[in-house]
Amino acid sequence: MDAGKLVPDQVITGLVEEFLRNAKGGCLLDGFPRTLPQARALDQMLAKLGEKLDYVVEVRTDPELIVSRLAQRLVCTSCGAPYHAQSKPPRQEGKCDGCGGKVERRADDAPETIRRRLAEYQEKTAPLVAYYREKGILFTVDGNLARAETYQQIKSKLGDAGE
Ligand SMILES: [Zn+2]
Repeated sequence: MDAGKLVPDQVITGLVEEFLRNAKGGCLLDGFPRTLPQARALDQMLAKLGEKLDYVVEVRTDPELIVSRLAQRLVCTSCGAPYHAQSKPPRQEGKCDGCGGKVERRADDAPETIRRRLAEYQEKTAPLVAYYREKGILFTVDGNLARAETYQQIKSKLGDAGE
């Protein structure tokens, strides 16, 4: 994970199957599936449970915007408190407001790690867009907007479709 690698398919599909078995009512999967084998495994799991996916949301975002956004994320290395270089900096630079620990960017958010993850996304996850478009359940929203606006787009598309 530190190297920006994805979790192996069989590990993650096992966890999701466990989750789906125990899920009551509707549920939202965030960050799964990330590969075609995972997507096919999910279809099989859902079929076994007599369920199906209603919608898939693609948040399409400019890769360089993702790199610059993640570079702003900071975290306390002692207590894990989240900070943001612009919108929520610690009162004293590099020092946690709560515990006084060191505040820095996570290794996962370093630009070179993010670019590697984006390349992996292109190779392994991007094919899911066509997979779900073919099934007629794909929504694409604009991730380049401010977070509240992207959220509104998702909400307006899913909101009238049964909350
Ligand atoms: Zn702290």
